[in-house]
Formats: sequence, structure tokens, C-alpha cells
Amino acid sequence: MPFNYVIEHMEDDEDTARSIPPWVELEYAHMRALAGRDAHIHFTHLSKSSRDALSGAFQSASGDLAESSCYEFGVLPLMREKGIDLDKVCLLDPKAETALAPADGDGRFEMFLFGGILGDDPPRDRTAELRVLGFPTRHLGPVQMTTDTALGVTKLVVDDKIPLDKIPYVEFPTIRFNAKESVEMPFRYIGNGKEPRLPPGMKELLHEDLNKTFDF
Ligand code: SAH
Repeated sequence: MPFNYVIEHMEDDEDTARSIPPWVELEYAHMRALAGRDAHIHFTHLSKSSRDALSGAFQSASGDLAESSCYEFGVLPLMREKGIDLDKVCLLDPKAETALAPADGDGRFEMFLFGGILGDDPPRDRTAELRVLGFPTRHLGPVQMTTDTALGVTKLVVDDKIPLDKIPYVEFPTIRFNAKESVEMPFRYIGNGKEPRLPPGMKELLHEDLNKTFDF
């Protein structure tokens, strides 16, 4: 059964010089690789300029990427359009009582929903804006993940049937750019050996941002 993932975009696009923050483009493109070719990712609540920017970034026709669609409206109208009831949508929520399990991918849920939020440190619980809509929820462990990591972990659990505690993680990694420069990321990532699995291009973007931060 093809798995459906929904990313409710919750970041203001308009306040950036570009139509969509570069981190969004990299993370959202990475989700298509993490979700796998049989999945479909629905990016909801996107402004017109963001939809155009993402559709442009997603032009690559590589066969291993999940199908994706971009919508102006949010997750509730999407569910109405697809005839999916609230209790068939699982919200991935750091504050959920129950951990996600492989059985959650056996038909209990038709969609897995994430907040398209740039994680804060400490978390500001912005996922609450989705929680109040009343979806069933599942957590992915006690440590905050980036949205693409949360989708990747969810896919490994519900599609590949790997239990949450059997997935290799890297926590709070230090990303080293050179002998003098590095940055610590306050998140849990899927482990690629000792390295965190980052979106392609993210390390370069982090280095650029680091230099911007210190440009007086
Ligand atoms: N700072 C935000 C979370 C940003 S993470 C907050 O505190 O709400 C972006 C999204 O990834 C979340 O909305 C959630 O859908 C998912 N996510 C991240 N870590 C998670 C975890 N440990 N358990 C469940 N979902 C998680």
C-alpha cells in the first residue's frame, strides 16, 4: 500500500528575501528521498511562491523519489478532498503518549502528518497547533528531530517495519566545517555510521549561515 505523508508548512515564507527559506527546500527535497519511491508526500499550506519554488526544485525525475504534491490549502481540506477521516490520520507529535510502532503501518492509518517547522531549541511546542485538531498521535522518542528526520524514521517504522529502538541515531552532532569552524545541532538524526543523515546541501548551508551570523 503506498504510504501517504503530509507536511503542514507552518513557517512564514513571506519574511524571507526568497520565496521559501533555503532550509525548507533542502529538507523538503530530502523527504522525497527518505520516503521512498512508493510513497506520496503532500506539502500543504504553501503560498503560491513557495509552491512554485518547491515544484521547481522537485523537477528532478529520479525514479527513487516519492511522488509529491504542493497545495495552498491545509491538511483538513486535503483530507476532505481525499475522503479521509480524522481518525485515519496519525500526527507525529513529540508530546504523544504512545510511541510509533510497525503495526501502525498495517492499515490503521492512511496518512502520517508532520509539522513543517524549523525546530527550535528548546522546542516551543508549535506542534500544538496541529494537536488541537484532534488527530490520533504517536511520538518518535523523547528527543526533537528535524521534520525530514521524523518522516524518515516514520517510514522506517511503518513501511520497513523496523522498531523505533532498532534504528541507529546520532544525537546533538557537531558539524565540523574545518579546523576552526563547527556548529552543534540540537536534534536527533538517523545515523549514517557516526555521521548524522543530513539533507544534501545542508552542511554547506549551515556553513554559510555560520559566516552570516558572524559578519559584523
Ligand atoms: N519545535 C517544534 C517541533 C519541530 S520538529 C515543536 O516543538 O513542536 C517538526 C515536526 O517533526 C514536528 O511538528 C513533528 O511532527 C515531528 N517531530 C519531530 N520530533 C519528533 C518526535 N520526537 N516525536 C514525534 N514527532 C516529532
